[in-house]
Amino acid sequence: MALVEQVEVATSERRRLALANPATRESLGEIELQSTEDVRAAVERARKASAGWGALPVGERARFLEYVLRGLVQRKDEVVETIVAETGKPHTEALALEVLPACDALQFYARRARHILADRKPPLHLLKTKKLRIVHRPLGVVGVITPWNFPFLLALNPCIQALVAGNAVLLKPSEFTPFSAQLLADLFENTGLPEGVFNVVQGDAVAGEALVTAGVDQISFTGSLATGRLVAEACGRNLVPCTLELGGKDPMIVCEDADLERAARGAVYGAFSNAGQVCTSTERVYVEEGIADAFIERVVAETADLRQGAEGDFEIGAMIRSEQLAVVEAHVQDAVVRGARILAGGRRNPDCGPGLFFEPTVLVDVTHDMQVMREETFGPVLPIMRVRDISEALQLANASHYGLNANVWTKNRQRGVEIARAIDSGCVVVNDCMLTYGVTESPFGGVKQSGIGRVNGELGLKSFCSVQSILVDRLGSRREPFWFPYGARKSKLLKRVIGALWGGSLGRWIS
Ligand code: NAD
Repeated sequence: MALVEQVEVATSERRRLALANPATRESLGEIELQSTEDVRAAVERARKASAGWGALPVGERARFLEYVLRGLVQRKDEVVETIVAETGKPHTEALALEVLPACDALQFYARRARHILADRKPPLHLLKTKKLRIVHRPLGVVGVITPWNFPFLLALNPCIQALVAGNAVLLKPSEFTPFSAQLLADLFENTGLPEGVFNVVQGDAVAGEALVTAGVDQISFTGSLATGRLVAEACGRNLVPCTLELGGKDPMIVCEDADLERAARGAVYGAFSNAGQVCTSTERVYVEEGIADAFIERVVAETADLRQGAEGDFEIGAMIRSEQLAVVEAHVQDAVVRGARILAGGRRNPDCGPGLFFEPTVLVDVTHDMQVMREETFGPVLPIMRVRDISEALQLANASHYGLNANVWTKNRQRGVEIARAIDSGCVVVNDCMLTYGVTESPFGGVKQSGIGRVNGELGLKSFCSVQSILVDRLGSRREPFWFPYGARKSKLLKRVIGALWGGSLGRWIS
């Protein structure tokens, strides 16, 4: 088969993109890049379907998630093959980090959505004569824009949450990994989902921009900080609410009392799984001086055991895009020029054929002057920095414009939680890594420039709804005390009420 790049193919009518397997460089075929008009037409179809879908009880919508789960379990091999072909990641990783969490998410939201989205009737603090009902209404049409690093899971997860919340959905996956999203569309189609409820448009920035401005009711965006900023600007101009799940520069803090073996293995897994192309990858390590030598020695030994390739058993696959590989090379080169030492890797893997393979790389003697400690590398690079103590580690960990995830390693779990609370990030893991991207209970998202809003769990599911307060009067008296007319008598009465309720401890206790 021909070796091809990810290149746009010019035709007189439609723009097309030729895609290649990043591990073997074999052709995967071409996709048609959909136009602004195509996107608008798809939004129209979704709009027509949204009212009927939103009117269904949550339980009925949830049934479709169960059907998709059944289909996914049956077709898991096909899904894995598709993910592997378009990303070059190991089979085991596609199963463990995409298919398994996808199954978990489908079942979780199918089972829990009804409870999470049920009306709430909290007793009112002051107005005892009224009844409050808090209702979660669908938004209408939700646009979902996703990246290439987890092409199946990151497409499925926001879509099923938006759908079960009663919205019609239009997914625009990354143009570099369209086939996993196509399979997801296929799984939905086989459930008998009403037409127009779930739609996929294949395309690049043109389709993404069109989706943001096509009159949808919300955008769920997962991707880079640079694109997230553009999406947020466009959403701001059109007053379309958006959630942004962006990049990270996740710190790992290793305390002197950490279980060294576990911490070293955790560092290697956190930095190198998915070839480092995880938003929650460990991107920089701060280790206390007293154990630094022993920790580094173990990390290097663990790294030496890793196998890289495209065939048989291996831990580290290809990088997905040559542009990203170039970023990794630039970061490593910049670090070396500024005084970093390479203890493992540091180059493209010469033994892996024509694929996009960069060796798992360990760097020491790194400083915050280097790009590799400040900017998202998004590749298999683990820079390790020695610190005097935990307060220096925290100061450095927080010296970043990102704040997505972090991990802390100590045998004292209570202290681990205290350190976690001092880190400026949306999520922290103690004595493990990356797990906050579990797609069920734990709300996930970043602070600072890692994003806005949360996906997953109760908070994430409700973010796909508009919350409506319905206040009902219970007594039906002829007139309310606050209504007209006003006058001195009413003012006097109100002052008395305020004094009685909040002027003394008894009143405060009663109210
Ligand atoms: P990207 O920003 O280049 O692309 C993401 C999506 O946006 C793609 O579908 C792309 O076609 C689309 N897009 C491009 N230009 C657009 C525009 N002007 N308007 C609307 N859409 C547009 O990101 P990527 O390179 O695909 O993904 C890697 C990045 O995603 C990394 O920074 C990574 O950290 C981040 N990421 C974050 C999370 C998270 O949950 N926080 C998860 C995975 C990846």
